[in-house]
Amino acid sequence: MRKIINAPEKVVEEMIEGYVCAFRRYYVKHPSVNGVLLRQSRRDKAVLVVGGGSGHEPMFSGFVGKGLADAAACGNLFASPDPYTVCQTAKAVEQGRGVLFVYGCYAGDNLNFDMAEEFLNQEGIRTAHVRVQDDVASAPKDRYEDRRGIAGDVFVIKIAGAACDAGLSLDEAARVTEKARDHTWSIGIATAPAQLPGAEKPVFELPEGEMEYGMGLHGEKGVLRTAWQDADALAERMYRQIREDAGIVKGDEVCVLVNGLGSTTLAELAIVYRKVYGLLAKEGVKVYDADLNSYCTSQEMGGFSITLFKVDEELKKYYDMPCESPFYTRLGRGSATLKGESPQDETAAARRNQVKSVGAEQDSAGARCRSEKGRRQSVEAAYEEKEKTADHGEGGCREGKLCELNTADVKEMLLYVADQIIASQAYLTEIDSAIGDGDHGIGMAGGMRNVKRKLTAMEETGNIYKLFEAAGEAMLLSMGGASGVLFGSLYLAGARGMEARDTLTAQGFAAMMGRSLKAIQKRGGARVGDKTMVDALEPAVRAMEATCAKGFPEMLKAAEAAAKQGTEDTKRYQAKYGRAKSLMERAVGYQDAGATSVWLIFRGMREFAACIT
Ligand code: ADP
Ligand code: MG
Repeated sequence: MRKIINAPEKVVEEMIEGYVCAFRRYYVKHPSVNGVLLRQSRRDKAVLVVGGGSGHEPMFSGFVGKGLADAAACGNLFASPDPYTVCQTAKAVEQGRGVLFVYGCYAGDNLNFDMAEEFLNQEGIRTAHVRVQDDVASAPKDRYEDRRGIAGDVFVIKIAGAACDAGLSLDEAARVTEKARDHTWSIGIATAPAQLPGAEKPVFELPEGEMEYGMGLHGEKGVLRTAWQDADALAERMYRQIREDAGIVKGDEVCVLVNGLGSTTLAELAIVYRKVYGLLAKEGVKVYDADLNSYCTSQEMGGFSITLFKVDEELKKYYDMPCESPFYTRLGRGSATLKGESPQDETAAARRNQVKSVGAEQDSAGARCRSEKGRRQSVEAAYEEKEKTADHGEGGCREGKLCELNTADVKEMLLYVADQIIASQAYLTEIDSAIGDGDHGIGMAGGMRNVKRKLTAMEETGNIYKLFEAAGEAMLLSMGGASGVLFGSLYLAGARGMEARDTLTAQGFAAMMGRSLKAIQKRGGARVGDKTMVDALEPAVRAMEATCAKGFPEMLKAAEAAAKQGTEDTKRYQAKYGRAKSLMERAVGYQDAGATSVWLIFRGMREFAACIT
């Protein structure tokens, strides 16, 4: 499919440029990251920052507005924003009363937003978050925490925006928002696939005459594939599932959203609503409000979702407050108004100045999100002191076995690995498309291109750890998605805070990878058998520890073999983390994308070491 774009890697940036330019009455773009900021927001309040992957427009940037979010942090297509983008976007709108983050519950978003919150907290900025998890098809009720967010974002952001604008404290706003989240349930159906700009194939394939029931917003597999059904049959089935899951009973009141996923017409959405309304009316459930629109889309995906938002008096109060953005304007139902009404007293110029000073500060800080002090205190750096002077001796390493790499070798190795990953983009995309959302190849290749840029531009250093740190930061601060944080940590976490060394011994490298493994597990929580990158990394690290005395070539050969076997083993597992977890036993038989990348990284290192021996 051909898309009306200039270059795939520029889609997000150019889209934001156009969006902000068209609606400049409302917005200003953050000067250095992909953040959309509201020009005129109420002063002296907790601010609401939303965000997530791009490609779902008008979600999230279209929900920045008065009575809505103060800013949106925009990631790459279908990939969460990186922590730096989230942190800078929040700092540009923060007003001293804290930041409430609302985003969909996805591994990538959770990891990146969590890290951004740590950065902000280190600078004394208070934060809270509410993860939207409305998709009833994404995990059973007893695994509610594993559910992902889809169009329910609309209601949760609406309530959160009103709560913040009403002047509630951060904690109170978070409480009301959580309540809204816990009263929102959705289910979706896909009738036609979506294709990401730059991807060669659609995210999934759907044979003629079939539909995917419970499909995720990124093309994650649903709960079942079924023969085509007409609107009434589908609407009833979806309604029944939500109602049962939500425990909605006669006498309850709900707001209903029928949300198009991209290419579904308003006519179709209306036909679906007609049936849902009929069922609600028949069963004594009152409709407080209804909406038909394509707010939360997945490119040109065909299909729709139904969301029920159960309201009580408190939620109605916030729901009724007026809000306005180019894509979501509500004048309220007349009962409530914003307390003190939006003063619009913060001029565009003042807002621009605020943004400018953030940009300047960040440039002078070496384009990093936090102060050096903060950096050292971050979670990755919190390794026991003893690790800093870990065994770097040459141990039993014999001559002629390439026991050390100098800084030039390390740089070359990282560049070589980057090229190998870039060359594997299509392969990784294919693997992630089977049980994920198909963006892993794009994300890894993009991150590795950034590694190349950063290392190539870097001045000579006499410290090998600085090279790993630079490579890790290049990934962490550019990729987004689950893999930005995790693969960034692979290089960064084990190197950060270490004493400068101009050579890397095999033992030292094994120890470094061990520290990175620990950091990745601490952040992501995954263990071997959970169908993640850890399945390849942990055996590789153990193999390195066992063979490091034999020098780099032998050690990396063992690491690659172990990572390859670990990757193969992922086919047997159900996923406990990441997008594939919703599939449960349906993920069995498929290889994990992140584990595959780990294997390819070690394969690249092994090839490099073999070349220079
Ligand atoms: P996203 O899931 O945001 O689309 P990617 O597709 O780039 O990100 O990366 C997906 C990979 O991330 C998975 O294949 C898995 O290996 C890894 N992953 C996801 N969550 C975790 C976690 N909690 N711990 C370790 N690895 C994880
Ligand atoms: Mg993915």
